[in-house]
Amino acid sequence: MSLPDPCKQKISGFQRSCILLFRGRQSRRNRYAGILPVVLLFALCLCGCRRQDPSAQISDVGFYFDTVVELRLNGTSDQKLIDRCFEKMGQYEALLSRTREGSDVWKINHSAGKPVEVSDDTAALIALAQKYYELSDGAFDITVAPYVTIWDFPNNTGQIPAEASIAAARIHVGLPLLHLDGNTVTLDDPRASVDLGGIAKGYIADRLKEFLEEEGVTSGYINLGGNMLTIGSKPGDIPWNIGIRRPFGEASDTIATVKVDGLSVVTSGPYERYFEKDGKIYHHILDPASGYPVWNGLASVTILSESSADGDALSTACFVLGLERGMELIESLDDIEALFVTEDGELCYSSGFPEE
Ligand code: ADP
Ligand code: MG
Repeated sequence: MSLPDPCKQKISGFQRSCILLFRGRQSRRNRYAGILPVVLLFALCLCGCRRQDPSAQISDVGFYFDTVVELRLNGTSDQKLIDRCFEKMGQYEALLSRTREGSDVWKINHSAGKPVEVSDDTAALIALAQKYYELSDGAFDITVAPYVTIWDFPNNTGQIPAEASIAAARIHVGLPLLHLDGNTVTLDDPRASVDLGGIAKGYIADRLKEFLEEEGVTSGYINLGGNMLTIGSKPGDIPWNIGIRRPFGEASDTIATVKVDGLSVVTSGPYERYFEKDGKIYHHILDPASGYPVWNGLASVTILSESSADGDALSTACFVLGLERGMELIESLDDIEALFVTEDGELCYSSGFPEE
């Protein structure tokens, strides 16, 4: 019988711990030696059965990162895997939240210009954010945090900030103010700050997928508030059919669907966090150059990619760049596809986007 590699590792690890456990007892009581093979066989059987039950399926929802998250795992009924994922989400939240006191991001933002040591995850995320800042010509910029604080979505229910406060924040925005050297982060300007909201969920989804695959999961998905990362395909080798939400429509109202197998599908749009005033939509995707929400005729951008961190950064970046420059960026990248939806309801697909 051949098993997938992670499954093999799991069984051999379990085997090892069984052997160690019984070796200790054996030295004290030799009469237990006889039951070792029986117990071992039973344990192997249990382990193997759990891994190979194609009809098993578990799912759960939680609330992290200010949004509803959902996990679905096929081929296993091991609730512990889901619990571990939720535990990890809590840990990432405590590390990456801008508002949580003591998080890495909070420490950077309260560093008063002094160097701060951050975790490997935070350093990796900032390095990735720097890459997308360069690629997007500054459209994706995690130092928009001073504007994010002023606009205060989703708490803001209709207050347009004073132009003067946005203008005052403008001189404290710009990724070149931040330096990353290994795990050390320094902000040149004590009033500069960072916000990882445009990329963190994608990065976390990637880490959760890695963990689940190491645990032998071959089918499922991780949905972090609409950031969808699939694991393999559905049972029976059927691709996942992911609905792309109609901007400003009901959550279940889709404007398109895409079939994927192990890919990430991430959408950015103004309709998640916004208020409307005098016929204008004020939303949470901000133009780093102006400090105001982006108004460029786009209603959403969806990115297909292997890595969800790439998809998350690119969906925000392309939303800021607009249809023309955003599409140009996508076409310049290998293995990344996009769907841009305009306010007029037009659907613009990149050249390699899979047909429905
Ligand atoms: P969502 O958080 O709804 O999944 P996005 O991935 O598009 O949506 O991220 C939007 C969040 O990213 C904002 O709430 C804010 O925290 C941050 N952000 C806003 N504008 C930018 C920008 N130009 N570059 C980087 N991050 C941004
Ligand atoms: Mg994003």
